[in-house]
Order: sequence, then structure tokens, then C-alpha cells
Amino acid sequence: RDGRTPLMAGNWKMNLNHLEAIALTQKLAFSLDDPDFEAVEVALLVPFTDIRSVQTLVDADKMRFSYGSQDISAHDAGAYTGEVSGVMLAKLGCTYAIVGHSERRQYHGEDEAVVNAKVKAAFRHGLRPILCVGEGLDVRQAGEHVGHTLAQLDGALDGVPEKNAADLVVAYEPVWAIGTGEVATPEDAQEVCGAIRGRLGELYSKELAENVRVLYGGSVKGDNVAAIMAQPDVDGALVGGASLQADEFVKIVRYSK
Ligand code: PEP
Repeated sequence: RDGRTPLMAGNWKMNLNHLEAIALTQKLAFSLDDPDFEAVEVALLVPFTDIRSVQTLVDADKMRFSYGSQDISAHDAGAYTGEVSGVMLAKLGCTYAIVGHSERRQYHGEDEAVVNAKVKAAFRHGLRPILCVGEGLDVRQAGEHVGHTLAQLDGALDGVPEKNAADLVVAYEPVWAIGTGEVATPEDAQEVCGAIRGRLGELYSKELAENVRVLYGGSVKGDNVAAIMAQPDVDGALVGGASLQADEFVKIVRYSK
């Protein structure tokens, strides 16, 4: 993966209050305080209520973590009770916002139009969307996983210009592998991550496709990450459950050791 910095992104989902967030962030910083992991970018995607605490720690101790949110409003301000805008996230120093996670699509009815609007909202405020795409079990069993995932990618990027798309991160997350312990084989991950890169080349340019990072997500752990990372089109992992345990997440970050 010439020139693409591996990205290990922890999605804490709806876990850890702000005090627990501080404890985990400090533990990670302590364990990762050596030059060994300098070739890897580590991002913490945390609940909205934890962002300020993570920001304060990262700034005060110059921690080498990026951080961000797990969702973003499609709107910038106004009468949208319960939502958090890109303006607010940018003000908190966020680099990333997860967009279109399968749990948002499933439990909050986020369709392609919503995901597309949220991708655009992130770019409006200088945030980098971590765009999640991936098929459910029925689609996989029907052998339509590549087409399905590329259609999600097309929908999410509709009308997004190349200058923005260059800052995109895509996460291929087969829904059947999320939180199930059922990890995709390295070949499965490569097949779809490679297809995503190919489509980015068609939608934009070969140069953009070579630079955008494509992650795999779905039951990544310390003992399966190296085989997945050995695939040429997998540039990192979006990690749910294992990102809540400092030791396990540190193993993932140190996958090459
Ligand atoms: C996720 O929620 O993005 C995820 C990949 O979860 P897990 O690692 O727990 O499967």
C-alpha cells in the first residue's frame, strides 16, 4: 500500500461515559508511547459526550491520536432536536465522522440519500467521513456483495467532487461480520476492498483511488488483523468491540510486530 498510512480506527459505539473515556484514552497513550507505532494512524470514534474529554487529553498531552464522532447531522444548525452538526464537531477538533454505519442504516432508517447528505455535511466543515458500506448475509449468500457494496458507494458519493473525495475514508463492513465474531476471510476483504478502490478510480481518478484509504471492519481482533492487513487493498481496520479493551486494541495497532 505505497504511500497510504495504515489507519486503525476504534468505534466505541454507545459505550464509555466521559470518565471511562479518559481512562481508556490514557491507557492507550501509555501503551503506545513509543516510535513503534508511528507508521500507523490511530483514530478514536467516540460518543458525542466523550469528544470534549478526548480533545482535552489529546491536546494537553500531545497524544498522537486522531478522533471524531460516530455520526453527523446532515444539517448545520437549527430545529433538529437531538442532532449534532459538523460545525460543532469541527469546533471540537474532530478529524473524522463515521457516516452510514450499518447500525445507523438499520436502526435509524438511514438510506442512501441521508448518507449522501451526511457525507456532504462532513466535507462542508472540513471533516473526513469514514463511510461505511457492506452487505448483509442474504446479499452475500446470493453472491451479490460486490454490486451491492459498490451501489452504496455510488449513492453516498453522488455529487461529491474529487477535491473532497480525496479526503474520504471508506470502510468495508459486511454486516454479517459486525459484532458476531464471524470475520470475513482475508480474501473476502480483499475482493471487496479492491473493488471499492477500482470504483473510486472510475468515479474520480486512478490517483485518487491510489490515495484513499479503504478499511475492513467486522470482528477484527489482535489475532486476525495481520492476515487482513496483508491484503494489498486493505489499509486499516474499523474496530468495534475490540477497541474497548486497551490490550486488544494495542495489539491491533501493532499488527506488524
Ligand atoms: C463496527 O461496529 O464498526 C465493527 C466493526 O464492530 P466489531 O469490530 O465489534 O465487529
